[in-house]
Amino acid sequence: MQVIGMHLVQQHGLVDALGLDTARLAKFLQELENGMPSSNPYHNAIHVADVTQTVHVLLTKGGIGQHLDKLEVLACIIAALVHDFEHLGLNNDYLVKICHERALAHNDRAPNENHHVMAAFKVMRRPECNFCQSLSMHQMSRMRKVMIDMVLATDMAEHQRIVSLLKQEMPSRLEAAHTKVTDNGTDEGGHGAANTRGNCVTRLDAKGLSLMLCAAIKIADLGHAFTGFEVHKKWSSRLEEELFLQGDKERNQNLPISYLMDRDKPGVTKSQQGFFDYVVRPLVTSWIDSFPDSSPLLDQMEENLSQWKKLEHSAQ
Ligand SMILES: [Zn+2]
Repeated sequence: MQVIGMHLVQQHGLVDALGLDTARLAKFLQELENGMPSSNPYHNAIHVADVTQTVHVLLTKGGIGQHLDKLEVLACIIAALVHDFEHLGLNNDYLVKICHERALAHNDRAPNENHHVMAAFKVMRRPECNFCQSLSMHQMSRMRKVMIDMVLATDMAEHQRIVSLLKQEMPSRLEAAHTKVTDNGTDEGGHGAANTRGNCVTRLDAKGLSLMLCAAIKIADLGHAFTGFEVHKKWSSRLEEELFLQGDKERNQNLPISYLMDRDKPGVTKSQQGFFDYVVRPLVTSWIDSFPDSSPLLDQMEENLSQWKKLEHSAQ
């Protein structure tokens, strides 16, 4: 996780472009990795490294990099690195149900996601971890906004809202962005970030930019659904075990055991078709409508779904 974080920040040319302090960045990344419990079967440092890597693929091959300046690229990579910081292996419903400290701190609103991004910014503020001291207050506030939007978007309670917006608004916002570019590629819109956008050929408005990045991190967060079947199957089993561990806690506390978390009943690996049909496919098809370069994701997703169907069939 530390290695991939440092590598991507350097590969995207962000250290020189933004004057980042690599010694402090290394310390920050080390603290982030220390904050990912290896006892979590799913929400651990490997998951975070995987999500960060997938965000990088969407930036470079998925069709979104052209819309971003260097600061936004940095915000995307750091958002991916912090998006599950200090995850407890417990979902929001459970934290709210037991009045966990994190639920109290955030008034029951997305206690996990609010904690991940808040706690990461607290680490970043420590002198030895503050790799962004070269950024102006305006740049820092832009970076914070992108990161907060992206991490809060990983709350599954936001899924339907983001998929609907992606379907209904993204195409027209992209269309409007294209029309702001003149034939010779210069910006007619003239907003603040235009001068730092390098080879960027379109200018999404603020809402369009936020929507694109929120959907991108959601895709990355489900990234194992778009990878080879054997790897995907392992991560599905890891998720199932983490949910069962929460179910064990609920059982021990005489709480109702949440759906798919009772290890005496079928878990998530037995309900993949519904997950693909109602969660993954609507997100990825809406995404590809706007970002067709990402279409290989859909092909692998369909392949994985057909493999699950085969497994289900052979188990009957
Ligand atoms: Zn995650």
